[in-house]
Amino acid sequence: MAKKVLVLGELKGGELRNVTFEAIAAASQVANGGEVVGVLFGENASSHAEKMIHSGADRVLVAENDELKQFTTDAYTQAFLQVVESEKPEGIMIGHTSSGKDIAPRIATKLGAGLISDAVDVEVNGDDVVFTRPIYSGKAFEKKQIEEGLVFATIRPNNIAPLEEDTARTGDITTVDVDIKDLRTIVKEVVKKTSGGIDLAEASIIVSGGRGVKSAEGFKTLEELAEVLGAAVGASRGACDAGYCDYSMQIGQTGKVVTPDLYIACGISGAIQHLAGMSNSKVIVAINKDPEAPIFDVADYGIVGDLFDVVPKLTEAFKKE
Ligand code: FAD
Repeated sequence: MAKKVLVLGELKGGELRNVTFEAIAAASQVANGGEVVGVLFGENASSHAEKMIHSGADRVLVAENDELKQFTTDAYTQAFLQVVESEKPEGIMIGHTSSGKDIAPRIATKLGAGLISDAVDVEVNGDDVVFTRPIYSGKAFEKKQIEEGLVFATIRPNNIAPLEEDTARTGDITTVDVDIKDLRTIVKEVVKKTSGGIDLAEASIIVSGGRGVKSAEGFKTLEELAEVLGAAVGASRGACDAGYCDYSMQIGQTGKVVTPDLYIACGISGAIQHLAGMSNSKVIVAINKDPEAPIFDVADYGIVGDLFDVVPKLTEAFKKE
């Protein structure tokens, strides 16, 4: 059956996050010839709506209320539920990001619907819509299907290929009236931490450091390699706990879950909680001076050696490329 599927787009730093396009690709499969309707909230949302259409949405609904300038759980949940009420979709796709993880379960609860979270793949066969999602900290995958009613899923960044952008695609962009009230949270000011700028969750290459990096100064060695590769810098909790870097860089069970094309683990032992956040990376390179380190069990390429010897050599070699 053809379906109408809503996709909640996400803006970050004044740009649409890539996961928006990946969610649109998932939605167009789920729609099965039906309609993909983008939904976008926030400051200047309407100026990004066309890009959602170029990426596969058939039309886009935008709301730019003052209360939606910054993400808050309350405001975005209220606004999205009002769009659902008027559109009556058969499917909803939202990125599995911090904000997506925050509002999707609330929306599902309010709608009395099921939710398949953290989907990495979707297959559609007639009326069957089957999502694949990781379980047991990424050690296995399960296939999940919502038997009846709304097909609702969150989509893990970096897994479902976006559709090819087509700038000739056209579609309506409509401003919707949403009534937001009784907010319990209001964002007064956003103070941004300075960082390398590449979003860990969406980075295609990550250079990551652990306790073996030994100091905040040691992370500069990794940053140099990251800069040459156009990579983001991540960390183990060991490195964060030791104060070498900020917790926003932590990858793992209680940090960020990443699936880059290339993950370079430097001085990371490979504890199960760290693997939970990165073991589904496409290619893993481990640099560790202990040949018995468990990280080598998941690595595609292992370099046994001192990271302070190996990493600068890699940086120099890639500079020449
Ligand atoms: P270590 O285990 O100390 O490993 C350091 C490694 O560096 C060693 O293998 C050593 O051989 C190597 N090394 C040292 N010097 C060098 C050198 N010069 N060159 C090359 N190699 C060198 N951890 C996470 O990462 N993410 C999480 O989200 C997370 N969540 C957790 C949740 C819970 C509930 C718990 C209990 C733990 C969690 N942990 C998490 C912690 C996890 O169990 C490990 O303690 C942590 O991952 C270890 O970090 P590490 O590998 O950097 O440090």
